[in-house]
Amino acid sequence: MNPEEQIRQLREQIEYHSNRYYNMDEPEITDYEYDMLMQQLKALEKEYPQFADDTSPTRKVGGTAKREAGVLVRHNVPMLSLQDVFSKEEVFAFVEEMSEKLDHPQFVVEYKIDGLSMTLRYEQGDLVMAETRGDGINFGEDVTENARQIPDVIKHLSDAPEYLEIRGEVYMKNADFDQVNAMQELLGKKGFANPRNCAAGTLRQLDSKVVRERRLSMFIFNLQQVRGREFSTHTQAYEYMKSQGIPVIERYRVCESAQEVWDAICAIGEERGDLPYDIDGAVVKINDYAQRQMLGATTKVPRWAIAYKYPPEEKETKLLDIELSVGRTGRITPTAVFEPIRLCGTSVSRATLHNQDFINDLDIGIGDTIVVYKSGEIIPKVKRVVKEKRPEGVHTFVLPDTCPVCGAPAQREENTADLKCTSPNCPAQLERHIINFVGRDAMDMKGFGAVYIQELVRLGYLKDIADVFHLKDHRQELIDAGIIEKEKNTNKLLAVIE
Ligand SMILES: [Zn+2]
Repeated sequence: MNPEEQIRQLREQIEYHSNRYYNMDEPEITDYEYDMLMQQLKALEKEYPQFADDTSPTRKVGGTAKREAGVLVRHNVPMLSLQDVFSKEEVFAFVEEMSEKLDHPQFVVEYKIDGLSMTLRYEQGDLVMAETRGDGINFGEDVTENARQIPDVIKHLSDAPEYLEIRGEVYMKNADFDQVNAMQELLGKKGFANPRNCAAGTLRQLDSKVVRERRLSMFIFNLQQVRGREFSTHTQAYEYMKSQGIPVIERYRVCESAQEVWDAICAIGEERGDLPYDIDGAVVKINDYAQRQMLGATTKVPRWAIAYKYPPEEKETKLLDIELSVGRTGRITPTAVFEPIRLCGTSVSRATLHNQDFINDLDIGIGDTIVVYKSGEIIPKVKRVVKEKRPEGVHTFVLPDTCPVCGAPAQREENTADLKCTSPNCPAQLERHIINFVGRDAMDMKGFGAVYIQELVRLGYLKDIADVFHLKDHRQELIDAGIIEKEKNTNKLLAVIE
């Protein structure tokens, strides 16, 4: 592929995923994967400046202000994103560059909360406006009424300057997220993929009662603007906010050297799995406001801060069992069942192992310690086996050579790694066999839909193909239970079968 084409494709991909993330709250890839695409594009654009384009996602702040959810509000201060870095070298380079430009700079290293950004404006101590990030530069959405439902959003400041504007991250604690999803399940609704999606969807709710029920939280991470009071450093502003009951990012660390900054990042990396909420990185920022002012910002990011992104979260756990299930096509699928762990805000205990080849590649056996991560922050996957922790007597799992449902011989399909049950009478495959049997290419029983077949198999009316012809013996039961809808439909179908 030539570089121009490659750049074009990357831009398209990034636009697509950016839209799913910012405007639909339905990401398909991890933030890390997204960041990697962006890094690739940046590198290519730098190497081939002739293909530069002002509409490239590298020149934009992610997201467009969504019009339907709230009234647009013009930002007083742009809500910029941060320059992402992924390595120790980049962190050191940043600190060294700052130390060359500034006189003894201090750095604050703090959690980057995985939520969505919101700015609060206070006039004479009263909360008058809450706005989302929107396009980051010009417009956000007015979410003031919803923000008032968040306990962490302080509505009135007792010792207030004339004007105060602060920015923070709205998020959902893992425990609150679990409750919301349990409730969704109870109501028969689809659960949210992770706490961030849930928080984003909730803040944009038109009904502020829902916002109150779902218990959003917020941490403040920046002073945007102030009139009527002077603060010279970020930590000084934090101290003032704390005195007003405003929750600021917890456990921030003040550092002076690159090594101190790096140690703080590593310490946060260790803590992140044990926090009651999700973080997706660590922010390193200059503490002194005058120094920040001197550095300024590009059109997209401030020059005085960076965000270090950790690789995707993964955890060790113990493989308790490998369950086998037989699909409707007779395919036998192994599933790893492990001690529950918390990943990206949800508890997980199962992951597919696909087939024997996959199991052999991992060299996985029941009793092994395994490393699990989440793909797309949604689907749990087994990454590897911790070989050093393998207990004595544990061997690589071997799929059985018989079907776990009917006991018939199982056979590996040619050209694929799939293992299939060979019995035409296997109950697991019954649905498919009956669907084929009544279908157009066989008995052609019109109106005998797959939905009815599934239900009749589930309720035990169809135990093998011949049972199709015994359905008439259960005519009244079928009508009473409404399985084939009304009496007329049941009679019609039974007539077709005859
Ligand atoms: Zn079988």
